[in-house]
Amino acid sequence: MDRYRGVRTAVVVGAGIAGLTAATALARDGWQVEVAEAGPPEAPAGWGLCLTGPSLRALDELGLADACTAEGYGMSTITHVDVHGEPAGEVQLPRLIGARRPAMAGIARPALHRVLHAEAERCGAVVRHGLTVAAVDHDGALVRVRLSDGTVRRVALLVGADGIRSAVRGLLGLEASLDFHGQMVWRALVPRPRWATGIHQFAGKADTAGLVPLSDRQAYVFLTENGVERSALPEAELAPRLRQLLEAFPGRVEEIRSLVAASASVVRRPVLTALLGGAWHRGNGVVIGDAAHAPAPQMASGAALAIEDGLVLARELARHESVELGLQAFVGRRARRCRTLVETSVAIAGLEQARRHHEAYPLADSCHRLMAEPA
Ligand SMILES: Cc1cc2nc3c(=O)[nH]c(=O)nc-3n(C[C@H](O)[C@H](O)[C@H](O)COP(=O)(O)OP(=O)(O)OC[C@H]3O[C@@H](n4cnc5c(N)ncnc54)[C@H](O)[C@@H]3O)c2cc1C
Repeated sequence: MDRYRGVRTAVVVGAGIAGLTAATALARDGWQVEVAEAGPPEAPAGWGLCLTGPSLRALDELGLADACTAEGYGMSTITHVDVHGEPAGEVQLPRLIGARRPAMAGIARPALHRVLHAEAERCGAVVRHGLTVAAVDHDGALVRVRLSDGTVRRVALLVGADGIRSAVRGLLGLEASLDFHGQMVWRALVPRPRWATGIHQFAGKADTAGLVPLSDRQAYVFLTENGVERSALPEAELAPRLRQLLEAFPGRVEEIRSLVAASASVVRRPVLTALLGGAWHRGNGVVIGDAAHAPAPQMASGAALAIEDGLVLARELARHESVELGLQAFVGRRARRCRTLVETSVAIAGLEQARRHHEAYPLADSCHRLMAEPA
């Protein structure tokens, strides 16, 4: 019996990339969606990210690719520079959303968040901040969700989109490994140099670095530090330490180093991955995005997986007679692609650690080809 169509109500936990896109896609299909976000209403501060072709394609299905490109910086090339500072080739990226539109876009996280948040609310989703989930019980064809303010919702669907350290995952009794890979990644917001109209990637003797445009005025520097302990540095030491690491790179990186000196925003994060060992759902509760499968950032594809999850979840729920069947179909469509991406990103992190960068490139290529296939 089609029980849930009468009560198409959902609680989505987490107003990040996965949560907001799932909320939008579900609300457009007629679901009443409430999003519980632990953080404050202000868009998250911080660095930028790269929306690859599959990210833009999924955003385009939500009608948001152009808004993201307008808020960010559309681009279609990756320029590789070797350890001597010499050009080592330019890769033209496939344009998955049409020849007249860019292959990918750099965007500041707050800007992406504003676009996704505005669309979720425009579609009728209610986003509440400073709220998390305290308990989950299965209640026949419904799921009973107790929120941190003591209120209770009985809904047809619970979506855990609460990131790599997902609380919902634990409350649903789903098991995931959370692994550190001996690397720390750096990001620093800097003014965009005029020559940076695509991604630039610089090979170093020990580490890799690069530059991604985020807007006409802004770009971010990235660096992956190999063979390090997982540790925190005092805020005041971040910019000087990043400048020191960039000293090992010749050529244009000298200019980037001088920009980092003036950066107000430098972050350093451990490379962590998460992957569910078995089921993604229990009863009418499911986890999506980084809560289910967080790849290492080297593939720049975590956002693509998160957005695709939201879209495919809504589609499969619309096609099936019960939430249970919809969730099974959703996981059936997503599990292999997401596992392959996480496992490949882990292999790439390992090869980088072993300074076998040349072996990492074909792996990354094959994974980008997989991601270019429809979700
Ligand atoms: C340094 C770095 C660089 C990256 N660069 C890229 C890139 O260039 N391109 C790319 O595609 N991907 C990149 N990624 C990966 C990408 O950021 C993630 O895959 C993506 O953000 C996952 O989205 P999500 O919504 O699943 O999780 P998140 O973005 O982590 O959002 C989770 C949300 O849930 C909220 N939350 C957490 N716990 C709770 C709770 N208990 N209750 C309520 N709310 C909660 C959080 O506040 C947050 O708003 C990068 C990751 C890192 C670490």
